[in-house]
Amino acid sequence: MIIILAPGATDAQIQHVVERVEAMGLSAHLSRGTYRTVIGVIGDEAEIASAPLAAISGVAQVVPVLPPYKLASKDAHPQPSIVEVGHVKIGGPFVGMIAGPCAVESESQMDTIAAAISRSGANILRGGAFKPRTSPYAFQGLGEDGLKILRDTGDKYGMPVVTEVVDPRQVELVDKYTDMFQIGARNMQNFVLLTEVGQARKPVLLKRGMSATVKDFLMSAEYILARGNSRVVLCERGIKGFDTETRNVFDVAAIPAVKALSHLPIIVDPSHATGRPDLIPACALAGAAAGADGIHIEVHHAPEEAMSDGPQALLPEQYAQLAKQIYKILEILGRKVTPVGESRD
Ligand code: PEP
Ligand code: MN
Repeated sequence: MIIILAPGATDAQIQHVVERVEAMGLSAHLSRGTYRTVIGVIGDEAEIASAPLAAISGVAQVVPVLPPYKLASKDAHPQPSIVEVGHVKIGGPFVGMIAGPCAVESESQMDTIAAAISRSGANILRGGAFKPRTSPYAFQGLGEDGLKILRDTGDKYGMPVVTEVVDPRQVELVDKYTDMFQIGARNMQNFVLLTEVGQARKPVLLKRGMSATVKDFLMSAEYILARGNSRVVLCERGIKGFDTETRNVFDVAAIPAVKALSHLPIIVDPSHATGRPDLIPACALAGAAAGADGIHIEVHHAPEEAMSDGPQALLPEQYAQLAKQIYKILEILGRKVTPVGESRD
């Protein structure tokens, strides 16, 4: 950490800063320039991170050298992490192809969709059983019945499953059925929930909050990592903007930006990012080209009957066509997709 003193800081103020640093068991290296004095602090930065040094008079700025998301950062782990979801790998050379409806609605709905997408190259099945809806009057999901349907359908088609958990009290229940927890955008900073899934032994798909900066996003991942769960996959799903043309603003630059800072895999969700089936293919391809470690897409065979997010769902045949194009981009980039596993039928 570097402490920059204000112009005209007095010797007494400088001495006081040095004493405060030394009292924390760290050493202070003073460097007096013509205009400014700086103090380099040597020692564990975590020790000093929460000390209000900037509040000392004469201090202009306190500049950390290491990022505050120390476990998520590349300093902690220079190589990209590979996260296993069931038998499917995400990260490093591996790209996850996650698809399925927004919500689990019935056995036949899940069966129809899973049969189609597993043939088209998806390898992880998604479906919400607990839906965090903006309106309390909207469909909230089938709950445990939905979890059972998702699990059975995933097993039938040899696809691991991912589903959202919205309440820390339901982590144990969801854990019984899922291969991966999803933390939704609305819960990215629900720190109790993050702590709870941090204690679970299953991977976590952490979606970016609608107004979260990349740093906020990585700090939320840090909550999960700090509890001992290292299997975190990030998901860029669009952030709030001023334009109503798309549901959110697809921040494709967040993919390489996160990769420059963190070893964690990051995937894209062009469905929630754009909310428009006509834009989803272009954004999915852009995400793949930008180096995303997974492409997450909502698919429904009858969008007009869907109980949530119907207007943004791709039809199975549209998904099939898009998946072919995604695979071509992945081939150019030398990336791999784990095939689906044994089917139970
Ligand atoms: C979802 O995946 O259906 C969902 C609600 O996503 P988000 O949290 O990104 O809005
Ligand atoms: Mn949805």
